Amino acid sequence: MILGVIEHDRGKLNEASLEMLTLARTLGSPLEAVLIGADAGPFRETLKEYGVTKVYEVQHDQLGEYAPRAWGTSVVQLVRAKSPQAVLAAGTDRGNEVMAHVGAALGLPVAANCTEVRPGEGVYEVTRLRWGGSLLEDAELHGEPKLLTVAPHALSPEPASAGEVAVEAFRPTLDEKDLRVRVSAREEREREGVPLTEAKVVVGGGRGVGSAEGFKILEELAHLLGGAVGGSRVATNNGWRPHSDQIGQTGVQIAPDLYIACGISGAIQHIVGVKGAKYILAINKDPEAPIFQRADFGIVGDLHEVVPALVEEIKKRKSS
Ligand SMILES: Cc1cc2nc3c(=O)[nH]c(=O)nc-3n(C[C@H](O)[C@H](O)[C@H](O)COP(=O)(O)OP(=O)(O)OC[C@H]3O[C@@H](n4cnc5c(N)ncnc54)[C@H](O)[C@@H]3O)c2cc1C
Repeated sequence: MILGVIEHDRGKLNEASLEMLTLARTLGSPLEAVLIGADAGPFRETLKEYGVTKVYEVQHDQLGEYAPRAWGTSVVQLVRAKSPQAVLAAGTDRGNEVMAHVGAALGLPVAANCTEVRPGEGVYEVTRLRWGGSLLEDAELHGEPKLLTVAPHALSPEPASAGEVAVEAFRPTLDEKDLRVRVSAREEREREGVPLTEAKVVVGGGRGVGSAEGFKILEELAHLLGGAVGGSRVATNNGWRPHSDQIGQTGVQIAPDLYIACGISGAIQHIVGVKGAKYILAINKDPEAPIFQRADFGIVGDLHEVVPALVEEIKKRKSS
């Protein structure tokens, strides 16, 4: 049996879990899933579509909110009870955190952020992202069960032929240590428009934007295209954008149809965050800027002239 740890938050399934299930199906069968601290009902249809035949619904009155070690302990107890051949989670912050707890508790290695997995006799060969995605590593994964996470955006989520899905309750034994770290409160940031990680068009701004004020025209461009605005680390470190808008190795990873990079040089730590973009349009006044090596389209020019001109042209076309 292959076991997938389903990531969810306040009733919403993380898309990266569907990518994980798509890869998990290639490793063996049956494919089963563990859902921690949530009612399986709303997720059942989707999990069925992705080939899951059984869902373990982990129930505990302290598991209403995410608690990394409690999630890890729950998975460990389920592993001991059901002996899966492999346990997979999405290679998100939470997925990697939970699997780190699972690996530590079981004394087993975890291969994080895999892009390919080739199962063999007692060993899996994996290819995985290292250094924030700037290099690919081939490695062998040992241990029983195999523990791994799947790099987000490494493959497209593909539904499978759906059968029936059973639901089985599982009650873990948790102690106070398991619950020391957990979400205790939430502070929502007011944000208009589409979230950065879901936007089909992202307009990114870097040092070339020059100020928080300078982002206004990028906001306007994003708004016209139904997209969102993000930034390089320079933009967030300077306080021009909130840290949650940082794209890259130490920020968010995005996969829009179009990424418009304005005044961004194209450092590898930024590029790893936009590798999932279908097309990149770079606007930079330096024709030698490394971003042009990665871009599908480029405009050499001052963004303070180019972006307003784009905005005007889009407005004109929209109104005609
Ligand atoms: C461990 C580590 C993690 C990191 N994580 C991240 C990360 O997650 N995300 C990230 O972005 N960076 C990250 N960085 C920083 C990264 O290395 C770069 O320093 C950063 O991405 C550069 O940002 P930038 O492109 O905005 O600035 P710069 O590299 O200074 O580039 C500015 C660009 O703007 C152009 N420009 C200037 N004025 C204009 C204008 N008027 N019109 C058009 N073009 C103009 C310039 O030609 C230049 O190419 C990380 C670094 C380290 C060491």
